[in-house]
Amino acid sequence: MAQLIDGKKISAEIKDELKKQVSELKADGKEITLAVIQVGNDPASSVYVGNKKKACEYIGIKSLAYELPEETTEEKLLSIIEELNNRDDVNGILVQLPLPSHINEDKVIETIDSKKDVDGFNPMSVGALSIGKKGFVSCTPAGIIQLLKRSNIEIEGKECVVVGRSNIVGKPMAMLLLRENGTVTVAHSRTKNLKEVTKRADILVAAVGKPKFITADYVKEGAVVIDVGIHRNENNKLCGDVDFESVEPKASAITPVPGGVGPMTIAMLMYNCVNGCQGE
Ligand code: NDP
Repeated sequence: MAQLIDGKKISAEIKDELKKQVSELKADGKEITLAVIQVGNDPASSVYVGNKKKACEYIGIKSLAYELPEETTEEKLLSIIEELNNRDDVNGILVQLPLPSHINEDKVIETIDSKKDVDGFNPMSVGALSIGKKGFVSCTPAGIIQLLKRSNIEIEGKECVVVGRSNIVGKPMAMLLLRENGTVTVAHSRTKNLKEVTKRADILVAAVGKPKFITADYVKEGAVVIDVGIHRNENNKLCGDVDFESVEPKASAITPVPGGVGPMTIAMLMYNCVNGCQGE
């Protein structure tokens, strides 16, 4: 039976470590503040924003909530970001995506000061990651590295295959695995003979965005399988990009959905807020 990589437990450990770190910073008179901006009231975004605020509360991070109406202009949003960029008391700025279609997301992301870019989406942060400099790292892939490390799974020298090349998951995931000295292959929708490629993996990361896409015949015996996907199946139950039932018996370790990668994203967002503040 595969080792179950418990994201719920590991994310709780990280949040508890951060809580301690924040209380020590508070004792030194330093407060950490995260500004969270939401434009419009998309229900899924409201749930994510609510969860982020709850995590801040638990850890002791002050959160500033900007709940802006759907019709907010791009100019207005950019001016709020500029103001937050200039505020010494604000450590992190997060703009919940997606934004309404009249606002240019790239422009918004580029306006966030790279020293406050806790989501790690700014081109400066992405560039820093690719040339091995310090900077904020996109939270989901950073969380996956923590899952592997804290489960004592070695990355160095391993064949790592990432299926998916999005800017927020696949690409930064590949860069991070490379930074950990993995031998990395990135597969995508134009990859030929995908099963042959994925079967080379000692560590297989599925960020395909298709429910139960990775079945047992994509997986080498004994591989570590990380499932980034989140979907609702026909019975409204959560499932991932990996067909857990068929893959689990073949894997040496695997993340469940829910309770695997999902909870790590917010934990790493909190990590970025706290450690960015310390000048990492
Ligand atoms: P995207 O849709 O942006 O990217 C999907 C990637 O998968 C693309 O690079 C695409 O290739 C590739 N792909 C699609 N179909 C195939 C195929 N048949 N064979 C090989 N590759 C394929 O998704 P994201 O990266 O944003 O997210 C991936 C999944 O992770 C989603 O299920 C999402 O909900 C989930 N997610 C979960 C998070 C969490 O906190 N747990 C956070 C973020 C995302 P191409 O580039 O060629 O089109």
